[in-house]
Amino acid sequence: MAKALPGYGTINVPMDRVVPFGAVTPAPVGTQPLFHTSNWRVVRPVRDEEKCTRCLQCYMACPDACWVYKEEDDTMEWVGDFCKGCQVCIEQCTVDGALVAVPELDFEGGVVRLEKPF
Ligand code: SF4
Ligand code: SF4
Repeated sequence: MAKALPGYGTINVPMDRVVPFGAVTPAPVGTQPLFHTSNWRVVRPVRDEEKCTRCLQCYMACPDACWVYKEEDDTMEWVGDFCKGCQVCIEQCTVDGALVAVPELDFEGGVVRLEKPF
């Protein structure tokens, strides 16, 4: 029986829905358009190619694996479908100004909000 924190109840999670700490849950790409967390985004991380040293802190810090590094040509790519604009990557960036938050609506074709919330 799980212990509840004082003042809190417990949630009975069925065993087949339990996710262990540290588990990776791959996003169901292409099967659930509503799962695209980019719909939450209000700012977009933008990398300065000149300033970026490829330290890969952003790559390691992103909780949604939105940064892709290709060693063969030393290039980095941002894949925005699952970027929710949390800015963790920007916080972790080791070079001042190499990764900055730009308002989503500054981009032509910026994220379009869903008509219906989740
Ligand atoms: S803003 Fe958050 S979700 Fe988006 S790339 Fe950075 S760390 Fe990942
Ligand atoms: S953390 Fe900053 S400097 Fe390092 S790879 Fe990412 S954008 Fe470049």
